[in-house]
Amino acid sequence: MNRRTLLRAGVGLSTALASGPNKADTPTVPCQCDGLSAAARFNCETDVCAEASHDFGNIVHRLPRAVLKPAGTADIAEAIRWAAAQKLKIAARGQGHSTYGRSMASDGVVVDMGSLNAIRAIGTDRIVVDAGATWKSVLEATLAQGLTPPVLTNYLGLSVGGTLAVGGIGGTSSRFGMQSDQLIELDVVTGDGRELKCSRESNPDLFDAMRGGLAQCGIITRATLALVRAPERVRRYQLFYRDLASLVADQRSVLAADRFDQLQGAIIPDGKRGWRYQLEGAVHYSGSIPDNRTVLAGLSDIRDAAVITDLTYHDDARVFEKLETLLRSKELWYRPQPWLFTFLPGSKAERAAGELMRGLSGDDVGTFGRVTFYPMLTKAFGSPLVRLPDDSTAFPFNVVRVAADKEKVGQMVAQNHALYDRVREAGGVLYPVSAFPMSSDGWKQHFGSRWPQFAEAKRRYDPEHLLTPGYEMF
Ligand SMILES: Cc1cc2nc3c(=O)[nH]c(=O)nc-3n(C[C@H](O)[C@H](O)[C@H](O)COP(=O)(O)OP(=O)(O)OC[C@H]3O[C@@H](n4cnc5c(N)ncnc54)[C@H](O)[C@@H]3O)c2cc1C
Repeated sequence: MNRRTLLRAGVGLSTALASGPNKADTPTVPCQCDGLSAAARFNCETDVCAEASHDFGNIVHRLPRAVLKPAGTADIAEAIRWAAAQKLKIAARGQGHSTYGRSMASDGVVVDMGSLNAIRAIGTDRIVVDAGATWKSVLEATLAQGLTPPVLTNYLGLSVGGTLAVGGIGGTSSRFGMQSDQLIELDVVTGDGRELKCSRESNPDLFDAMRGGLAQCGIITRATLALVRAPERVRRYQLFYRDLASLVADQRSVLAADRFDQLQGAIIPDGKRGWRYQLEGAVHYSGSIPDNRTVLAGLSDIRDAAVITDLTYHDDARVFEKLETLLRSKELWYRPQPWLFTFLPGSKAERAAGELMRGLSGDDVGTFGRVTFYPMLTKAFGSPLVRLPDDSTAFPFNVVRVAADKEKVGQMVAQNHALYDRVREAGGVLYPVSAFPMSSDGWKQHFGSRWPQFAEAKRRYDPEHLLTPGYEMF
């Protein structure tokens, strides 16, 4: 018997995971995809479905009924129509680096975009890629032409579709906004099975609904991304401070002076001493080497502690992989990751961060954890559904952490919710890659004045509410 015969015989997926999803999440109806032209690419095997019931967060587990590895856009359109006929939910999965089940579909269909990962074309100012391509493969392809996407995420193992669905922030976001702001065109299969192109000029409502739209209106199959000339090298300055006030003062001054090509920073647990405060700036260059004295002039960091590295642009962009290797070797990469990502309004950031930090201990963040905290100019951001505080600057306030044990996970998820409430009270907003549940009303509040337009796009492009149930939004 092949796997579909087994499933038809009612063996189903109820024994799929010895431990994992709740009983309520266990599929009860067999997969019946034999009539579909994409049937060969539907997989109902327990291990494949089990894989799609996990994500990087390792907190939420929802077992799908089937996983589709599409060979092309037509497969996705067909799968959406099939899911609609069966009243199943459907969700795209890029690299599965969400932290709270956002790419899962309980008893539904997961579209594993990893099979659509081709680089289609590269021009002098743009690249056309399949949405399942990782940013790593995009960068390798563009650097061969001396070009780069203007914004790269810190970790390049994320998929193009996965970050465009949330925004996609990186060290150059002050200048270039989110990755979703550097988009020229998208190919999308909508929730009602239509294959559409969209851009600022063509189907702009769909374009707006897809950029940072949490995959509520469609699945991106292909993206045309803007490119700029890549620098040859990056000199990176990690500067350390004794307190939050001196960190923020220098962060604000280097931002105002546009001193760095990349600007980030963090508050890092420092054993019994409490916290260390870090500014991380990077200067891109191709010809003359940056003069450290000029770059660091007037800054009040603990100069003896400064760490300066100089790498090719390629190696610098991939530096996160060293941390990944370390975390994998210690098995921390696979532990639950209850992350919280938010933005604080620039004008209140120092006070708000100080108050939020008073409620956090080193234990809440963990050995390899940190709170990333740095200023960005908001004028570069333009994707309507990517929410930012109403201020000329915003500070990401992101609690990046690994939970030591199962008990801690629940506490950390609850703490994320409480911290988010306080961020909102301070005029901040969520970056929706965070690990805690949100009600439909919570999402309405999150999208604020953009909600009616978003709800209208949902009605127009996914009227049956098939897509991306993991956010529990509609
Ligand atoms: C180690 C690590 C580092 C990170 N660094 C950054 C960072 O520097 N900047 C940043 O902004 N974020 C960062 N994130 C968060 C990250 O952006 C999100 O988790 C992102 O959505 C993950 O991409 P993915 O390909 O794994 O997507 P998945 O987790 O697979 O999916 C994320 C969401 O996108 C949807 N989606 C996936 N593919 C498509 C598609 N083709 N069309 C439509 N929707 C789709 C899914 O349904 C889901 O809702 C990081 C996460 C991790 C784990």
